[in-house]
Amino acid sequence: MSFQDKTIVCADCGQDFVFTAGEQEYYAQKGFTNEPKRCADCRRSRKAQQGGGGSSYSGGGYSSGGGGGYDRAPRQMFAAVCSNCGKETQVPFQPRGDKPVYCSDCFAERRQSSSGYSSGGGYGDNRY
Ligand SMILES: [Zn+2]
Ligand SMILES: [Zn+2]
Repeated sequence: MSFQDKTIVCADCGQDFVFTAGEQEYYAQKGFTNEPKRCADCRRSRKAQQGGGGSSYSGGGYSSGGGGGYDRAPRQMFAAVCSNCGKETQVPFQPRGDKPVYCSDCFAERRQSSSGYSSGGGYGDNRY
């Protein structure tokens, strides 16, 4: 596979720059399939502006909302009766008969009192 110098117009400053054969080889070795869109000067100044962090990897992808991934919709709440104080409450998950359900007051209380083990999700509470 042979590389040839290639002239590309910089997307930032509009000037032609050369994507050299050596650079193309380097890109190919790194597995980059995209050609550079900016000349070396603009790339350098952009990097400087971003504080050196060249990659824009956001680390996203995991959405805690579940479902569609958009958290714009209001979360569905289910009516339940608190297993601790018997008060009617609403919980953000479907109450199941085999799991205790707590109102927000009791839940906060339990979270505070159980110092070591806090599952956060309400699982594992049957072990007592
Ligand atoms: Zn440029
Ligand atoms: Zn309660």
